[in-house]
Amino acid sequence: MPISNSFKPGKHFLQIPGPTNIPDRVLRAMDYPVIDHRGPDFAEIAKRVLDRIKLIFKTDEPVIIFPSSGTGAWEAAIVNTLSEGDKVLMFETGQFSSLWQEQAKRFKLDIDFVPGDWRTGVDPKIVAEKLSKDKDHKIKALFVVHNETSTGVCSRLGEIRKAMDEVKHPALLLVDTISSLASIDFKHKDWKVDVTVCGSQKGLLLPPGLSFNAISSKALEAYKTSNLPKSFWDWKPMLEMNKDGFFPFTPATNLFYGLDEALNMLMEEGLENVLNRHTRHAEATRAAVKEWGLEILCKKPEEYSNSLTAVMVPEGHDADALRKVVLDNYNMSLGMGLNKIKGKVFRIGHLGDFNDLMLAGTLAGVEMGLKKSGIPYKAGGVMKALNYLAQ
Ligand code: PLP
Repeated sequence: MPISNSFKPGKHFLQIPGPTNIPDRVLRAMDYPVIDHRGPDFAEIAKRVLDRIKLIFKTDEPVIIFPSSGTGAWEAAIVNTLSEGDKVLMFETGQFSSLWQEQAKRFKLDIDFVPGDWRTGVDPKIVAEKLSKDKDHKIKALFVVHNETSTGVCSRLGEIRKAMDEVKHPALLLVDTISSLASIDFKHKDWKVDVTVCGSQKGLLLPPGLSFNAISSKALEAYKTSNLPKSFWDWKPMLEMNKDGFFPFTPATNLFYGLDEALNMLMEEGLENVLNRHTRHAEATRAAVKEWGLEILCKKPEEYSNSLTAVMVPEGHDADALRKVVLDNYNMSLGMGLNKIKGKVFRIGHLGDFNDLMLAGTLAGVEMGLKKSGIPYKAGGVMKALNYLAQ
């Protein structure tokens, strides 16, 4: 049970941009005895999950599932494809791209970290410029965080891929989809992504605890020459054992039951409907924010995130104080501003298992919180969003 100073009736609104609300169907599916992970029943579930998860990544190539948070899958992407001293291109789009860069530094990669303002995504023009100057193909990989959860900025991956193709550069493309998969359109195969990194706790409707690498055949070729130390994260024993539905170590059995059910739910709704639902809720949220007269952190509408909205509070006001008012009075958790933008923004998560009335409640909590905390705003954002949804 969560530790709380006082009893709060009703349902807690978990509106951080992940971990997200777990559907009851997924909770019920995990509430089942642990079975032998080397027995035939588990193998059947694992094979079914490993096969169907490919549809979510839009790939027919292998997907590996680790028992870890997303940070582990970042590390797996690095150690299985690169070697010490390899030149790589990374982009400072926010907190998570900065952390991935820190991790890559520890593996002694030679990093060109393109600075950013935490309000815009990866610029495809800079990609083209950097790669076209690299005539002898020293750059081995490009790292992109598709949706920066810290800023609510979604990089335009299709255009980035196009820029790479136009200059005919062979660098690997490593992409973090931790807060975009199953909420914002992502195409592993069509965009020729070499390693897609994901985690279970956002669009995949699960608790934290599973992480993913979707792998291309080019990444498997790179594996053969990569010299970084790998043991737990090594793809090879995983791929060999996964063929029969087994793992080189104990898999997170009950999370697999949950993932199997989450995949049922995503298929029943239809992936394209899931993506459209996220677009609609994001549009309604942005309509509310604009009506309140507050600024969205993401500068470019073409980079707006459909899984979360980061909202700036006016100069002289503290976003964390607002979040506390909302939590104390309305029992809702909003995402905090991380690192450089601490106290300056709050983040509304609108991804995962979410519907119109949950969004209405979320926005109502924000609007009441704005009023109670004395932040200047114009009333009516909730109504604006409701009108949008009712169209
Ligand atoms: N990348 C992104 C885009 C994230 O949102 C997160 C976590 O929220 C991470 C990486 C790190 O993942 P984890 O905390 O599961 O290790």
